[in-house]
Amino acid sequence: MSGRVIVAGGGAAGLSAAIAAAENGNAVTILERLPRVGKKILLTGNGRCNLGHEGFDFSHYHGSVKQAARILADFDVKAYFRRFGLLTRTDSEGRIYPMSGTAASVLDALRFAAEQRGVQTLCEKQVTGLSPKNGKWTVFCGDERFSADAVILAAGGAAAPNCGTDGSLYPILRKMGYTIVPPVPALCPVPTDPARVRALKGLRVRAAVSAVCGNRVLKQETGEVQFTDTALSGICLFNLSRLAAEYGSRMEIALDLLPEIPVQETAPLLDGMLDQRGDLPAGDLLTGLLPKRIAETCIKQCGGNCGEPASALSAETVGRLTALLRDWRFPVTGTAKFAQAQVTAGGVAGECVTDTLGSRLHKGLFFCGELLDLDGDCGGYNLTWAWISALTAADNLGHA
Ligand SMILES: Cc1cc2nc3c(=O)[nH]c(=O)nc-3n(C[C@H](O)[C@H](O)[C@H](O)COP(=O)(O)OP(=O)(O)OC[C@H]3O[C@@H](n4cnc5c(N)ncnc54)[C@H](O)[C@@H]3O)c2cc1C
Repeated sequence: MSGRVIVAGGGAAGLSAAIAAAENGNAVTILERLPRVGKKILLTGNGRCNLGHEGFDFSHYHGSVKQAARILADFDVKAYFRRFGLLTRTDSEGRIYPMSGTAASVLDALRFAAEQRGVQTLCEKQVTGLSPKNGKWTVFCGDERFSADAVILAAGGAAAPNCGTDGSLYPILRKMGYTIVPPVPALCPVPTDPARVRALKGLRVRAAVSAVCGNRVLKQETGEVQFTDTALSGICLFNLSRLAAEYGSRMEIALDLLPEIPVQETAPLLDGMLDQRGDLPAGDLLTGLLPKRIAETCIKQCGGNCGEPASALSAETVGRLTALLRDWRFPVTGTAKFAQAQVTAGGVAGECVTDTLGSRLHKGLFFCGELLDLDGDCGGYNLTWAWISALTAADNLGHA
């Protein structure tokens, strides 16, 4: 197709879609509600932008857009950015970052590429409505109207609303007949009983972390757990957080504080500690294994007195401690807020879009990025989806 294309949203997906649509010979305009495009890109990866991940494994993605597996399979994110003069570097865990080490380089690469291809960028234009008529589209921004042959919706989800993503397109699309899988915050801390974590605020510990419902382990991750005054946080908790939204208070978080040590060695290990440190206060018994405040909290929770000699701990307390170190449970008390979330789980349902992300309901309408019901784990998976979903939509404008 070569015609007039409007891209709603100037984030990761919107910029990529606009560049590709312009390369295909279209006259492209981005409508972005904030004063500048790409605000969220600057915050990604703690300002370093984890823009992709080595290899392809669809198990890192969740949601109803099953078409994504085929779309993602052959995408080479490093080659994609190299075309725009941006080189990358991969860390030991396969995460891909810009070689410059700064997210600003990624936004610059996309902005320059868009400018070079003649993309028009209009900021402070919030899309408030869409209307198809006689094979053309009218896009409304309040009282203003823009006409187009095709529209690519790239307005993101509802996570991180300070970056312009307030979910404002969901009600508009619902009215147009689209199924919106209820949006919930994902990649966010998991709230728990503040009384259980307040004393541990600011501490970090390495653990195997399981999302548990009854006796069923739903998912397990190993990594650093961070305690806040109301939640458990850290990358592995982020990766379990969409389950917290799904299971709510039926779910618990279980921490195995000694993931490198076989379970059957826990009791002998504690016996050895009691031999070596029996004369020390019980609060110091486990400081060779764990941060002191965490060690003390575990002992107290098992009924021990941290001020008394460790040798005075009862056999029952030591037994409870042996179990707790491998399975320390925290209730899930709710869902974090969108303001604390990196992505949105939910959005436009997979059944509403074709294999190339065109609408099944309206000719000339396309979807990409986080607006769709697809979310990835931490590690560059979400931006990968933003780039390639945008390319897919923009390269197939003529095929809807
Ligand atoms: C703090 C943080 C860190 C992250 N780090 C990473 C990371 O390192 N790696 C990774 O893969 N993912 C990361 N993510 C997730 C990733 O940034 C998003 O999944 C990705 O940006 C989604 O791209 P998008 O273009 O679909 O939406 P967005 O990038 O959110 O862009 C949507 C744009 O649309 C605009 N908009 C919204 N509504 C309208 C409207 N009605 N009219 C006009 N414009 C509108 C918004 O202002 C915004 O500019 C992170 C997210 C956050 C919040």
